[in-house]
Amino acid sequence: MTKSWNYLHLQCGNCGSSFTIENGPWGPYYACENPVCFNRFTAALYETLLDKVYDYVLIHKSAKGFSARISRSRLKVVAKLEKETPEQVTLSVVNLAQKAHHNSILGRM
Ligand SMILES: [Zn+2]
Repeated sequence: MTKSWNYLHLQCGNCGSSFTIENGPWGPYYACENPVCFNRFTAALYETLLDKVYDYVLIHKSAKGFSARISRSRLKVVAKLEKETPEQVTLSVVNLAQKAHHNSILGRM
């Protein structure tokens, strides 16, 4: 099993949209393509998730039942399996830290 960047597909756990890769002052990051959705996280998180999915599939021979929680500063990500084919695993990903920030902004309006 060789690692492929196409193996892991991410979709927004808030709204179901796809992510686009943007370049920010702190490097590349994933942003939900839905303009009213603020779900985003660093490209490094993608690599972490890719590693976790590969490790899981090596042990379980399937991504079925996979889920991950990753907490770092300004990052509290929950990922869960949406779809699995032999070529690709689709995870829905939500950055709860961003979501909480977004909600607090809305709460003040
Ligand atoms: Zn979204």
